[in-house]
Amino acid sequence: MKKQKRVFRNNLYALRLLWKICPRQVIHKAATRLLGYFEWLFYSAFFMRYVVHALETEQEFSSIMTFVAITATVFALITLYNSYVNGSVLPVCNVIVNKGLNRILFRKSRQVELACFEDKEFYNKYTLAMEKADERLIETVDVIWGVLFGVAATIVSFCFMFEVDKYSVLFIIFPIIGNFVFNRKMSHIDFERNKDMAPYNRKIAYVNRVMYMADYAKEIRLTKAFSLMRRHYDEAIQGVIEVTKKYTKKAAVLHWLWANFVFAFIFEGLLIYGAYRTLVSHSMSMSELAVITSMMVSSTWILIGFTESLMKAFKNGLFIDNLRTFLEYQEAIPESYDGINPGEEIQKIEFRNVSFSYKEEEVIRNLNLCFEAGKTYALVGHNGAGKTTIVKLLMRFYDPSEGEILLNGRNIKDYNLQQYRKLFATAFQDHQMFSLSVMENVLMRKAAPNDEKAVVDALKMAGVYEKVLSLPEGIHTMLTREFAEDGVVLSGGEYQKIIVARAFVRQSPFKIFDEPSSALDPIAEYELFEQILESGRNKTMLFISHRLSSVQNADYVYMLEHGAVAEEGVHEELMEKKGPYAEMYTKQAVNYLAREEVGA
Ligand code: ADP
Repeated sequence: MKKQKRVFRNNLYALRLLWKICPRQVIHKAATRLLGYFEWLFYSAFFMRYVVHALETEQEFSSIMTFVAITATVFALITLYNSYVNGSVLPVCNVIVNKGLNRILFRKSRQVELACFEDKEFYNKYTLAMEKADERLIETVDVIWGVLFGVAATIVSFCFMFEVDKYSVLFIIFPIIGNFVFNRKMSHIDFERNKDMAPYNRKIAYVNRVMYMADYAKEIRLTKAFSLMRRHYDEAIQGVIEVTKKYTKKAAVLHWLWANFVFAFIFEGLLIYGAYRTLVSHSMSMSELAVITSMMVSSTWILIGFTESLMKAFKNGLFIDNLRTFLEYQEAIPESYDGINPGEEIQKIEFRNVSFSYKEEEVIRNLNLCFEAGKTYALVGHNGAGKTTIVKLLMRFYDPSEGEILLNGRNIKDYNLQQYRKLFATAFQDHQMFSLSVMENVLMRKAAPNDEKAVVDALKMAGVYEKVLSLPEGIHTMLTREFAEDGVVLSGGEYQKIIVARAFVRQSPFKIFDEPSSALDPIAEYELFEQILESGRNKTMLFISHRLSSVQNADYVYMLEHGAVAEEGVHEELMEKKGPYAEMYTKQAVNYLAREEVGA
C-alpha cells in the first residue's frame, strides 16, 4: 500500500510540475485523451444504437441523415482540433517544457553541494532523472489522463452494456483478467530479462563509449586495446542472445494466453450469446445486438488502454521518484545562503583545529593554519596529503566536521556564501576549459568592451600571451572544437597558463594556485610561480605544490603530512632545521639532478 501511495504522490508531483512549466501542455493532453475516449463511447454506444433503432422503427430517412450529418460534423471538428493540437500546439509546448524543466534541473544541479556529485547513489538518481526528463515528464502526465479518463470510460461502457443486457457485462471479465494478470506476468518477465541483460548492456555501452570518445582514440590506435575491447563486446552480445533465448518461450506462451483472454473469449463468446438471443430466443433486438457488439470492441480497447496506462503510471512513478529526490534535496550548504556581507577585504584567515573526512577516513586532522593579508604562502606536501581538500574547505564546498575556519575573526559559515566566494580567485589543477573564446575562458563571464586590456595583462602575467597572439583570432579565438569547427586545441601546459590568467583577472583579494602547473616541467613551474610572485608582491596568495623548489620563495611555508601540519616557517629556517621539509626538498633536488644527468 505504501508503494501505491508513493506512486500516486509521484504522479501528482509530475502533474504539478508540468502545470508550473506549461499549463497549456497539461490542458491539451487532457483534452485529446478525453475526446479520444468520447469518440469511442459515442460511436459504439449512442451512434450505433440510434441508427439501428431508427432503421428498425422506420423513422424518417431525413431525421436519420440529420443525426449522421451532425455526428460527422462534430467528429470532423474533433479531428481538426486533434490535428491542430498535435501538429502545431504540442510541438511548441514540448520545446517550452524542455527549456523550463532543464532550467529547473540546471539550477538545482548548480546548487547541490560538491559532495552530492561524489555520492554514488545520489549521482545515479541525478543522472537517471536528467535522462530525457522532459519527454518522460510529458508522458507521465499523458498517462495520468489515460488512467483517469480510462476509469471513467470503463465505468460508462459497463453501465451501457448493463443497461442493454446485464449478462453481457460478464464477458468483460475476460479482457480484465487478460490485461491485469497476463500483463503483470509479462512485465515481470520483462523485468527479469532486463535484469539479466543489464551487465551485458553495460559492457556494450562501455565499448561503444570507448570507440567514440576522443579520450581513448590515441591508445586505441597505438595498442591492442581494440581487440581486447572487441572480445568483451562479442562476449556481451553472446550474453544478450542467450538471455533473449531463455525468455522467448515463456513470453510467447504468455502473449498467446493474453491475446485469447483479451480478444477471443469476449469477441466470440459475446457474438454467439448475442446471436442466440437475437436469432433463436428472439429476446434481443437488432439494435441491442449492434450496440453490444460495437461496445465489446470499444470496451476491450478502452480496457487495454486503461491497463497499459496504469502499468506505465507505476513505471513512470520510479522515474519521477528520482526526479523528486533530486529536486527536493535540501542542500547542506545552499549557494543562496544569505549571511552577513564579508566586505571586500581579507585581513586574516584562520583554520582552528579543523578536521574533515570525505566518508569514514579522516583526511584533515586537527589542522591549524593562518593566512594574513599581503603575504604569500606555500602549502606543500606529498600527493594525497590533503592540500586540495584544504582549498575545498576554504571555498566552502564542504564544511569541516570539527573545528572552524575564520575570516577576519568570524566563522565563514556566517557569511553570505556568494559574496564570500567572490573574495577568492582559485586556479585548480583539475581545471576545465569551456567551449568559449580565450577571452571568455579567462573572464568566465560575458565580456565587456573594456575587459580586453585586463585579459591581455592577465595572459601576459601567466606567460601565455604570445601563444594566444599567434592564434587566428587572438584572444577571440574559440577554444576546443565543440561549438566552432575552427576552434583551437592547446597543449596541457598552455591550458594551465590560461587557468592562471583566470585567477589574475579576477579582482579578488586572495589568489590561490592549486598546482595549476602540474603539466609543466619543474623548471617551467618554478619560473611561472616566480613570475606570479613577482607580479603579485604585497598581494595575498597561496601556492600549492608537491614540488618544494617551485614555491621556496613564498613568505611562509606550511608542510602538510597526512592532513596535519608537519612543519611550518620560512624556507631557509626549515632547511636549517633539517626536518621533514629539508629531507623532502633534498630528495627532490637529488632526483632532479639525477634526471638532468641522465638527460645529458
Ligand atoms: P592533495 O591535494 O594533497 O594531493 P587531496 O586533498 O586531493 O590531496 O586528497 C587528500 C586525501 O583525500 C587523499 O587520500 C584522497 O584520496 C582523498 N580524497 C580526495 N578527494 C576525495 C573525495 N572526493 N572523496 C573521497 N576521498 C577523497
